[in-house]
Amino acid sequence: MMSQSTTTEKMMDESMQGSSLELHAKAGNTRKLFIESYGCQMNFSDSEIVASILAKEGFDTTQKLEEADLVLVNTCSIREKAEQTVRNRLVHFNRLKKENPNVKVGVLGCMAERLKSKFLEEEQIVDMVVGPDAYKDLPNLIQEIDEGRNAVNVILSKDETYGDVAPVRLNSNGVTAFVSITRGCDNMCTFCVVPFTRGRERSRDPKSILEEVNDLWERGFKEITLLGQNVDSYLWYGGGLKKDFEKASDMQKATAVNFARLLQLVAKAQPKMRIRFSTSNPQDMTLDVIETMAKYNNICNYIHLPVQSGSNRILKAMNRLHTREEYFELIDNIKRIIPDCAISQDMIAGFPTETEEDHQDTLSLMEYVKYDFGFMFAYSERPGTLAARKLEDDIPEETKKRRLREIIALQQEHGLYRTKQHVGKTEEVLIEGTSKKSDAHWMGRNSQNTVVVFPKENYKVGEFVNVKINDCTSATLLGEAVGYSENN
Ligand code: SAM
Repeated sequence: MMSQSTTTEKMMDESMQGSSLELHAKAGNTRKLFIESYGCQMNFSDSEIVASILAKEGFDTTQKLEEADLVLVNTCSIREKAEQTVRNRLVHFNRLKKENPNVKVGVLGCMAERLKSKFLEEEQIVDMVVGPDAYKDLPNLIQEIDEGRNAVNVILSKDETYGDVAPVRLNSNGVTAFVSITRGCDNMCTFCVVPFTRGRERSRDPKSILEEVNDLWERGFKEITLLGQNVDSYLWYGGGLKKDFEKASDMQKATAVNFARLLQLVAKAQPKMRIRFSTSNPQDMTLDVIETMAKYNNICNYIHLPVQSGSNRILKAMNRLHTREEYFELIDNIKRIIPDCAISQDMIAGFPTETEEDHQDTLSLMEYVKYDFGFMFAYSERPGTLAARKLEDDIPEETKKRRLREIIALQQEHGLYRTKQHVGKTEEVLIEGTSKKSDAHWMGRNSQNTVVVFPKENYKVGEFVNVKINDCTSATLLGEAVGYSENN
């Protein structure tokens, strides 16, 4: 399966896939945990919660697999390839277990939830299977495997948000962090496995979100990304599932906090902290969110707004609850209210029954929007989804790949069109670290989330710097610093 992103955007940074996490040792801890994560940013964020829970159980994290007592793999089911990557990794862990039979192996996350105890039968080396809502049960499950029994907990929850677990920031740059605000998803897009693996949608208490943001600021972090499968659907009314909001009391309804309000609360609480959010779903994104973005300088001018297809017929078959025309209206509103707002997409090529005409609709939608970035995938049938049950995966692999190539090529053109618009301007950049390609250069991002690279001079990581943009590629801006920004 072919997929490609034309940016190094953090949400699904390919270079992060499979990275292991290490945090500082805690006095008295005697066992070593090796934890590896795959998939979306939510999974990386969940691994920080798991490490926090296990730090209290006597585990320090390690990046050396050979010294681990417990190996955990936080898995992804979104496409078949993601699952295959994990299966290959388990073969590697099997060799490790042969050398050291005392090592225990646990599978966490979406694959654990999808396959449940079947995992134990299919992969003999796995000792423990834990779904995304069961991490607080890890202490009990580890006791089980310590006593030689296999352990499984894949129960999905109505109210678990881990709001009371302070995540440990693992392998962090100390500048940017993710803050989870919702769990699960109620959208039921027909191609997507997420509602089955992560359960129904629920929102986290804004009080605990604000506490986490304030704490991050105190510790020197300068940018946060509010995370959820569908952040615009955020709704806090005292706890419980989003779908049960109808049954809430009048008081709960009157004091409920929606996403626009949450954004405002966070922006006001830390006016110098940069705020981003991901992912937005077009059907749930409202004007008040865009207006809140425009009102607060510290909310970045960037929206990740997956559309998946440009064809009304396919959008309907995908159960995306908006039309192409409604999507254009949303784009027009964003550009009217925030003219320099960057927009990125997710696109799926070769959904069942997709014709050449549907594919042309996708290309023409892209022409209209001219996205800054994109994440593009060939359709991968996922067992149990509505599409898998109702529609034949009838587009030949070659056709999917060719359509995907055309989508990627067009996105690259548009990426360059967008980056060129920054050339000649001076833009605020938050320095995140050394450029991957040159030790003499810093890498940071502007408000629009475009990567900016410039000579280091005497600037430091975590500083806000004004950078004059002199040149660009289709995904990167090149420039020189002209001083600190007001925000510094
Ligand atoms: N919640 C977001 C939404 O609804 O737009 C993103 C969910 S998913 C973690 C990220 C992306 O993976 C999706 O936007 C979609 O483009 C892609 N994806 C999901 N299921 C897929 C499938 N079965 N085959 C190919 N791509 C898929």
